[in-house]
Amino acid sequence: MTDLTKLTLAQARDGLRAKEFTAPELTEAYLGAIDAADALNAYVHKTPDIARRQAEFAQTRIRAGMSPDLCGIPLGIKDLFCTTGVPSQAASRILDGFKPPYDSTVTEQLHKQGAVMLGKLNMDEFAMGSSNETSCYGNAVNPWRREGDATPLTPGGSSGGSASAVAADLCAAATGTDTGGSIRQPAAFTGIVGIKPTYGRVSRWGIIAFASSLDQAGPMTKDVRDAAIMLRAMSGHDPKDSTSADLPVPDFEAMLTGDIRGKVIGIPREYRMEGMPQEIETLWHDGTAMLRDAGAEIRDISLPHTKYALPAYYVIAPAEASSNLARYDGVRFGRRAKLAQGDGITDMYEKTRAEGFGPEVQRRVMVGTYVLSAGYYDAYYNRARKVRALIKRDFDQVFAEGIDAILTPATPSSAFGLGEMANADPVQMYLNDVFTVTVNLAGLPGVAVPTGLDSKGLPLGLQLIGRPWEEGDLLNVAHSLERAAGFVAKPDRWW
Ligand code: GLN
Repeated sequence: MTDLTKLTLAQARDGLRAKEFTAPELTEAYLGAIDAADALNAYVHKTPDIARRQAEFAQTRIRAGMSPDLCGIPLGIKDLFCTTGVPSQAASRILDGFKPPYDSTVTEQLHKQGAVMLGKLNMDEFAMGSSNETSCYGNAVNPWRREGDATPLTPGGSSGGSASAVAADLCAAATGTDTGGSIRQPAAFTGIVGIKPTYGRVSRWGIIAFASSLDQAGPMTKDVRDAAIMLRAMSGHDPKDSTSADLPVPDFEAMLTGDIRGKVIGIPREYRMEGMPQEIETLWHDGTAMLRDAGAEIRDISLPHTKYALPAYYVIAPAEASSNLARYDGVRFGRRAKLAQGDGITDMYEKTRAEGFGPEVQRRVMVGTYVLSAGYYDAYYNRARKVRALIKRDFDQVFAEGIDAILTPATPSSAFGLGEMANADPVQMYLNDVFTVTVNLAGLPGVAVPTGLDSKGLPLGLQLIGRPWEEGDLLNVAHSLERAAGFVAKPDRWW
């Protein structure tokens, strides 16, 4: 039998339905691959018993000819999703010992469709980061390496474990979340596909909150077809999330016709950043040519407020985080610091939060508290909200002028070395999000597609940004780009 872990989700689904192999066989193949890949530190909690039980049950459904797309498909779940009875810690020490008595809406939907959970995936603490180096479990490792160079590289962040697991065939697909780029940047760093849906498409209920007005969950997959299948399974209205949209969920896979003739693709001039590496320029240029050759019309566009996006994001996201993270106080969830004789409740809060949160999380809580404080609220938080409205208006305008999708680079570079940014100014790390945060601020769907390798043999991705609620059309353009780019490279196995 061929190596089952190499199959795409769609191939695995079709093979299961055709009885070429069984769900338990598929699951065992992945469990074996996971155990042989501890060096990647992608999984932080393995759940083989749950996986085996779910696979057996899925097989009875397949045998009965009643199998939804995900029935029997082994998935990895980002540690940010609450999963019943299984540690769900957002890769933070402060949630030590937290095993939620409930599932997030997304994981519940996946389970109901028969998906198999292989385990929980590494990430940056509370999804704050771009390199997976803020995790309490230590960093995940990118399965890719520079040619002839054994330097361990970051898989990106915050969904670094998800990216690493999908790229190394340690799951058929994974869930991720994206507040400022955490699905798309790690997807680009590992040569896989990742889509952040329109804000409200996927329920946030039961996903540990970072910045509630920006957070969206989405799939990370081996190709665009798989993203379409996963997105449909994850989406839908949820009365438990008041920001979830009551809209029908289309069959995104059926929309992958590959025909993009007449579509209008915008190329935003403001994304041509000063000092952008030539390789990224070339990649972008080549991607534009591919879409033109496929019959799309290419138009130069302007999104004039782009340069304010990063500063606005790094006010709004920490502000919301400081409020969301106030609940971790040593009383209700997870860990409580050891107290000394005579310590009062304030000591308990302070000690718990000081030892439970890592440095990046503490930095965000402090920035967030500052920008929300009485004297500075208008100067920072309110101003950032106004900037956000202008950024959204830029997009509204180009869509009103007939643009169907926007093509940009996904990241300013290929994957960097672990530890390389350790001594840099934190803003250096924040620059990773320069092409992605605008999309969260405007609530739009955005997808990263691998389209090439750099001179060191590392994957590079392009981003397509779509109109709100039109993920189907967006994925169809992504599908066309994927086909034209013909990206088939895989990392050499060293782990
Ligand atoms: N890198 C960004 C941050 O650190 C985005 C993270 C995310 O999307 N969760 O905030």
